[in-house]
Amino acid sequence: MPLDFLKRRGSEAQATAGYTSGRETSAMLPEEVIAQEFQLKLYYAGKSSEGVRMKGGPRTLAELPGMLGGIAKSDVEVVDPLPIEFSHATPVIARPSEAMQWLNAHHENSPVTRHALVVLESIDAVDLAFDTFVCALLDGEIDTSGYPEYNAIIGGVASHWDEATGDMICRAVVGWGGRGVRGDTDRAGARILGGLLGNILASQYSQGLTAVERPVPAAGRGGLVCAHCGFASAHERAFYCPKCGMRLLRG
Ligand SMILES: [Zn+2]
Repeated sequence: MPLDFLKRRGSEAQATAGYTSGRETSAMLPEEVIAQEFQLKLYYAGKSSEGVRMKGGPRTLAELPGMLGGIAKSDVEVVDPLPIEFSHATPVIARPSEAMQWLNAHHENSPVTRHALVVLESIDAVDLAFDTFVCALLDGEIDTSGYPEYNAIIGGVASHWDEATGDMICRAVVGWGGRGVRGDTDRAGARILGGLLGNILASQYSQGLTAVERPVPAAGRGGLVCAHCGFASAHERAFYCPKCGMRLLRG
């Protein structure tokens, strides 16, 4: 308390001094420009596990929220892959067209989910062009508006369909970040990622860990276009749509 008092006194004294010296104006360019510095350091980080191959087809989708059981610290929300008309959605406000698509797609999601998508899409850990993402607060606190603090950990399970076999591939994804970083968040994130992966592997449909090429959306026109959902795959050997799991028709 006494320290706060001293600090306030000090800054008032400085402000007064500034006004006083400001009265002496000069048109001369000083030898050294006195610059007032501004900066914001944003820090986003995350982790994604290996994929787990799941059998059972579309029934497996209903299993996804349960994979956060015992780990989620908020309601679990399911985010479906984006319809094709939102294919340019990006959480970057300086790009109004992309930002508008993103807001139209996500304004009804919870603050936790929106924060998670900003973090995980910014670092490319989740791609809603084809991922189904099941998401919750996993560790830490939320602020009074319901948004996670910078040291909170968010995430869950992301899934897509293997373009070669049509099996569902699930992976654990966690992330955190904002205006700051804490030294122990990385370790906590790794621990939670392990717990999520354990839950995925414990599913009745799990076939174990698998190495799968990440789907690559075809930029612009071209590629093999899914007749069901419109997703265009850049992979030459894609037989199934990574977004909806339907067989791709070849012309
Ligand atoms: Zn499709």
